Amino acid sequence: MRTISGGCVCGRVGFTVEDKFVYAGYCHCSSCRKSSGASGTAIGGIPREKFSVTKGSDYIKKFSRSKETVSCFCALCGSTLYGEKPVSGMLHVRYGALNSAPELLPQAHMHVSSKADWYEICDSLPQYSEFPPG
Ligand SMILES: [Zn+2]
Ligand SMILES: [Zn+2]
Repeated sequence: MRTISGGCVCGRVGFTVEDKFVYAGYCHCSSCRKSSGASGTAIGGIPREKFSVTKGSDYIKKFSRSKETVSCFCALCGSTLYGEKPVSGMLHVRYGALNSAPELLPQAHMHVSSKADWYEICDSLPQYSEFPPG
């Protein structure tokens, strides 16, 4: 089983995840833009039992962003690492926090209706105004 490691900028928090992402995409919603300070995030969805924190769990702070999303980040350096999805039991791992490329690349753009006006999508992936169907 191939696993991928990842972690935060300061190096206190580390994790491993099985390279078995079920879906992946770019999210342009305002919460992803603001929590990342960037044009959005690239995330991969995986059942939470395929993910484990390997070090620094004491540094992980959680912010309940909505009923569906608990954002998890390093309290020291502020890196956003993953989001818990209590309703579906999935984790959304921020691809930017991974140390190497996952097999499943982002498949679509989500929440394009909230996209920053200054950011232009320059690839040919499907775009969804909110969530992708299904
Ligand atoms: Zn950190
Ligand atoms: Zn988002």
